[in-house]
Amino acid sequence: MTVVQKYGGSSVAGIDQLSAVAQRVAATRRTTDRVVVVVSAMGDTTDELTALAHQLDDDPPSREMDMLLSTGETVTAPLLAMALHARGVDAVSLTGMQAGIRTSGAHRSARITDIVPERVIEQLAAGRVVIVAGFQGATDQLDITTLGRGGSDTTAVALAVALRAHECEIFTDVEGIHSADPRVVSEARPMAEIGYDEMLELASAGATVMHPRAVEIGEAYSMPIRVRSAFVDSPGTLIHRQQDMEDRPKVRGIAHETDVAKVTLLGVPDRPGIAAAVFGPLGQAHINIDIVVQNVSHSGHTDLSFTLAESELARAQSVLERVVGEVGADGYDADRDIAKVTVVGSGILGAPGVFARICEALADQSINIRMISTGEMRVTCIIDRARIEDAVRALHRAFELELL
Ligand code: ASP
Ligand code: MG
Repeated sequence: MTVVQKYGGSSVAGIDQLSAVAQRVAATRRTTDRVVVVVSAMGDTTDELTALAHQLDDDPPSREMDMLLSTGETVTAPLLAMALHARGVDAVSLTGMQAGIRTSGAHRSARITDIVPERVIEQLAAGRVVIVAGFQGATDQLDITTLGRGGSDTTAVALAVALRAHECEIFTDVEGIHSADPRVVSEARPMAEIGYDEMLELASAGATVMHPRAVEIGEAYSMPIRVRSAFVDSPGTLIHRQQDMEDRPKVRGIAHETDVAKVTLLGVPDRPGIAAAVFGPLGQAHINIDIVVQNVSHSGHTDLSFTLAESELARAQSVLERVVGEVGADGYDADRDIAKVTVVGSGILGAPGVFARICEALADQSINIRMISTGEMRVTCIIDRARIEDAVRALHRAFELELL
C-alpha cells in the first residue's frame, strides 16, 4: 500500500512539531510499506522570505522569487528526514525537481505538467520513507518554479496520483473541513465527508484549508483526500466522490473571504466590445475578476461593477486608469470595505426556499446585500466587511449546520 501524507507550515513550525510529525510518520511506516511525505515551509517562512525580498525590490523578478521561496520547503524536507533517522527510520529527502515534478514556466503560479517519479519509486523500493519538498517544481530547462501560495497541497495530491497511492492525507492545524470557519462560528463542526465539487466551491470561496487546485486534481483522478489534524487523533474529513447526492441536506457549508474589493466603472458607454476592452487588459495583467454586475443602462451609459482581491487592487488601478480613458467612462470608484460570504451545497440553486432563507437570515441581522451571484451549487453575497462574521454566524444558524 502507498500513502502520501502532507504536513502544512504550522505542523512543521519548529523542532518540537517536526519531532511529532516524525513520530506520526514512523507509526504510519510500521503499517504501510510505501510512505511519501510532502512538507511545507516551516511556520511563516514563506511570508518572511517574501517580506525580505520586498525590502530589496518592490517588484522582484518572479524567477528569483521562486528561487527564494522554494528554499522554505527545501529546508523542511531534510530536517524531517533527520528527525526520522534519529528514530531509526530510513528516510531520504528530495526537492521537487528531484522528485520529477515538472511544471510550466509560469513562475509563482506554475502548473504541474508531468511527474516523472522514478527517483521516488526507486527510493520507496529500497524501503525508505521519501520526503518531498512541497510547492516547488522545475521547468524542462531546470528553472525552479513554485505552484502558488498553498501549493504544497497540489504537490501532495499530484504525487499521490502519479504513485497510484490509495489515499492522500493532508495534515493541518484543524480537525478537518468545517461547516464554517471555526474561528468565527464556535459551533462549526468538521464534516465526515464531502464531495470534490462542493469542496472546490468552498475552497474557491475562501475556505483556506485546501488549495482549490489540489481538489481539482483529486477530482480529475478520483484520488480520495483526507484532511485531518496533525495534533489531535481524529478521522478528519474525507473528500471523495459522493454517491448519495439526493438524500443529503442541500446546504453543506459557509465560506467567507475578506480579501475583496469592489470597483465600479461609472458612465461606461453601453455598446458591444466595452466589456472586452475593460476585462481584456485586466486579464493580461493576471488580475482575477470575481463577480461582475452591469446595471441597466440610461441614455446609452451604464455602471459596470466587479469584485477582485483587495490585494490586487493597487495593480488593477494602474490598468483601470488607462482603461477609463480608452472606453470613455466618467471614472471609477474603488470600495475596500466589503467581504463575501458563500453558501455551498450540491443542487442548492434548484432547492426551493434556499435563496429566500439566505436573504431572510441576512435581513434579520439588518445586513445589506450589495451584490449577489449564484452558481449551480453556491450563492455568494457581497456585504459590508464589518458585518461578515455576523453574516457567517446567521447563515450557519439559518441552515442548522451545527446539527449535521
Ligand atoms: N509554503 C507555501 C505557502 O506558504 C506553500 C504551502 O505551504 O502550501 O504558501
Ligand atoms: Mg495550506
